[in-house]
Amino acid sequence: MGGTFDPVHHGHLVAASEVQSRFDLDEVIFVPTGQPWQKSGRQVTRAEDRYLMTVIATASNPVFSVSRVDIDRGGETYTVDTLRDLKAEYPEDELFFITGADALEQILTWHNADELFTLAHFIGVTRPGYKLNDHHLPSGKVSLVEVTAMAISSTGCRDRVEHGEPIWYLVPDGVVRYIDKRGLYRKPA
Ligand code: ATP
Ligand code: MG
Repeated sequence: MGGTFDPVHHGHLVAASEVQSRFDLDEVIFVPTGQPWQKSGRQVTRAEDRYLMTVIATASNPVFSVSRVDIDRGGETYTVDTLRDLKAEYPEDELFFITGADALEQILTWHNADELFTLAHFIGVTRPGYKLNDHHLPSGKVSLVEVTAMAISSTGCRDRVEHGEPIWYLVPDGVVRYIDKRGLYRKPA
């Protein structure tokens, strides 16, 4: 499961858990994106903080883990590179790429879309506010899964912290503590 995870929240975790169970996956590997690019004109939190929050959030689940491939590669993250690296690391395994319905909509505009479908089976999960629409996706290469609605986004969590509102129960307790300890997402003084 790829993402910026700035911060990781219970929407990500519920989606990953649901897909793991439905597809009987051996493991779900969370892959935080690399650093340098801006997302919607905003500086993304440094990779080490996003990585550590993802580790904290997934540590108690025996089938969840976190990969540094996108962080350690450096540069802008393209999903095709992520999948090539994971394929090299797990040559015998079948790969599934879990992504939100919003990201899936842009799948055909990604770099090397044809190669992507040879590397992994894509699983698009619903998130509130996005309608699933599979009419121009290649058949047999993409599955769409409805997960329990979780109207949580990283943007919403960051805004809440900036405005001094609580994010308890939107993200795991350890992530609330980590954000506070590092002073992440606070309004610049
Ligand atoms: P931001 O608000 O900064 O864009 P985000 O909440 O969308 O953050 P990302 O790290 O961008 O989080 O998401 C990683 C993946 O998880 C994406 O494919 C996204 O669609 C999916 N996702 C995010 N939130 C949810 C949710 N509440 N339910 C299901 N999928 C989600
Ligand atoms: Mg997003």
